[in-house]
Amino acid sequence: MALVSFPKSSKPHIVVFPFMSKGHTIPLLHLSSLLLRRGAAITIFTTAKNRPFISQSLSDTDVTLIDLPFPDNIAGIQPGTESTDKLQSMSLFFPFANGTKLMQPFFEEQLQKIHSQVTCIISDGFLCWTLQSASKFGIPRLSFYGMSNYAQAINRDIFDNGLQLLHESPDEPFALKNFPWIKLTRNDFDDPFDKLDPRGPHLDFIIECVTATTNSYGLIVNSFYELEPLYADYWTKYCQPKAWNVGPLCLAQPAKIELPTSHKPKWIEWLDRKLVEGCPVIYIAFGSQVKMSPTQLHEIALGLEESKVSFLWVVRERETELIDGFEKRVEGRGIVVKEWVDQREILEHEIVQGFLSHCGWNSVLEAICAEVPILAWPMMAEQFINARMVVEEIKIGLRVNTVDGSVKGFVKGESLKSTVMELIGGEKAKELKGKVMEVAEDARKAVGDGGSSWVALNQLIDEIHKQK
Ligand code: UDP
Ligand code: UDP
Repeated sequence: MALVSFPKSSKPHIVVFPFMSKGHTIPLLHLSSLLLRRGAAITIFTTAKNRPFISQSLSDTDVTLIDLPFPDNIAGIQPGTESTDKLQSMSLFFPFANGTKLMQPFFEEQLQKIHSQVTCIISDGFLCWTLQSASKFGIPRLSFYGMSNYAQAINRDIFDNGLQLLHESPDEPFALKNFPWIKLTRNDFDDPFDKLDPRGPHLDFIIECVTATTNSYGLIVNSFYELEPLYADYWTKYCQPKAWNVGPLCLAQPAKIELPTSHKPKWIEWLDRKLVEGCPVIYIAFGSQVKMSPTQLHEIALGLEESKVSFLWVVRERETELIDGFEKRVEGRGIVVKEWVDQREILEHEIVQGFLSHCGWNSVLEAICAEVPILAWPMMAEQFINARMVVEEIKIGLRVNTVDGSVKGFVKGESLKSTVMELIGGEKAKELKGKVMEVAEDARKAVGDGGSSWVALNQLIDEIHKQK
């Protein structure tokens, strides 16, 4: 099968507008590099503080970046905060996302200058207002949600049929109407769907985003058909707009694993030493958003210390003082990293054999591609749904046990210790590893020449190009 090729003059020009969170930006940068390789011109809209991360990630390409001023008058948000990763509290997430609407006039001012050449706009689902801008200039908009088909299908089910099914108790299981084999609880959802009565500004904003996506030209999904055919088919059959499964997008760029020693971060050198010693390592990281309570951090430290398993734990800056003295006690066996790491580089390291993860969708896909089984510990957003998918559907992981059995419950060190030991070298470890290796093979096939994601991306480019 040939790649789509264009005469130079009619090369597609795609505007990409990521939401200001790492987990939303990273996959769209991967998508941009795939589109560039297929001959498209790419213009990325961002803000001054988010620009360095983007330009660094795409440094060897000729992508164009345009900065828009980020509003400094969003109620509750400290001026200068341009990324949700920097929010004081996740309760400010929706006010932040809603506040991006103030960027619309600036976006349109810039779009005005280039609109005649623009083939389509790919923007994050939270930037719902970009649909209006796109329509003004007669440009098709594609929405991007960094979610699986499984999570999207469940959300649609709940959205269309579900709220009245919810029980008084947030931990009482209920079956979904369209997927009766999936049992969920109210706590498997985050604000506002974990409430008995979710009405309010958050719900209004979500409805606005869902409606804008439904009315958009298409939806780009960071997943691959073979991972979840039933849910991808469900979307095609019953939901709008048309979706293209083009992932896992993390495979668009190789993880940096062949660095010369002088360029290796100290934690990679540490992993190299663990490989020589033959000590399997569990990698622990909870993404860019999660904020852990001090008591919960202490229990993690306790569990790791007592498990006797080697570990690499990435903590965010503000968490480090909370685990004072811990590093000294585990010296030699575990390290705590306080910087931004290249997560894929760690996951791809041969000695890393398990991942204690919050199950952000990017992390799940990265673990799959690196063939690393997951110990699922969801904390917010659609991570509870992803964790169920990892454990119950794809069967590539275990789940932490909470004290009260609630999916949002507290996890004690003692219990964490036993699940960590189960994942690294326990009875089920081999089975999980075998399964994740199979799924990883499917993922590589999907993005390889002629694979399902490869074909979907070509069809998408071809189709939008004909629109123009
Ligand atoms: N990530 C990283 N280094 C870090 C923390 C995060 O490279 O120190 C990357 C990770 O590989 C993933 C993204 O940031 O691509 C986080 O996305 P995910 O969906 O896993 O979680 P979120 O941060 O959105 O909760
Ligand atoms: N960064 C960003 N947007 C922002 C602030 C920071 O993309 O609004 C990027 C920054 O360029 C760097 C990464 O996020 O690549 C980590 O920034 P910082 O060292 O401030 O992060 P933290 O210590 O909070 O993880």
